[in-house]
Amino acid sequence: MEITEIRVFLKDGQDKKLKAYTTVTFDNCFVVRNIKVIQSSNGLFIAMPSRKVKLSCEKCHFRNEAGSKFCNHCAAAIAPHESSNVRGEDAKAEHRDIAHPVTKEFREYLQTKVLEAYQKEAKEGGKQGDKTAEKETSILDSVDVSEGETTE
Ligand SMILES: [Zn+2]
Repeated sequence: MEITEIRVFLKDGQDKKLKAYTTVTFDNCFVVRNIKVIQSSNGLFIAMPSRKVKLSCEKCHFRNEAGSKFCNHCAAAIAPHESSNVRGEDAKAEHRDIAHPVTKEFREYLQTKVLEAYQKEAKEGGKQGDKTAEKETSILDSVDVSEGETTE
């Protein structure tokens, strides 16, 4: 599988860790949006699109956010988080990837390509002040992508 297109939407804002959103096309036929470029103390890395893990209350089946001790609907105590099916690095953050590479090789390939595209865009974007990129970014802002950035 090959990456055939990467679109980078720079995010130079209040959140210093989040550098950009990217939209990646595979083999000209499959698109994954909201792959994030994150700045950490160890350098840049990518974060796959993720969602918050939710737990159903055993009594009323209300979907509570993982980590809740009591149901937000009926106040019943909630059993400790079942972490067996959450990938290691996401378990702490209570986030689960929506789409992600299965092999280490492909993960590295994807990360290398995305970071290359980001660095190229960061260079050129600074010069040109691309209006369309700004517009796209503001659309993406309205999507619920805020989760995950505050956790280490
Ligand atoms: Zn409940």
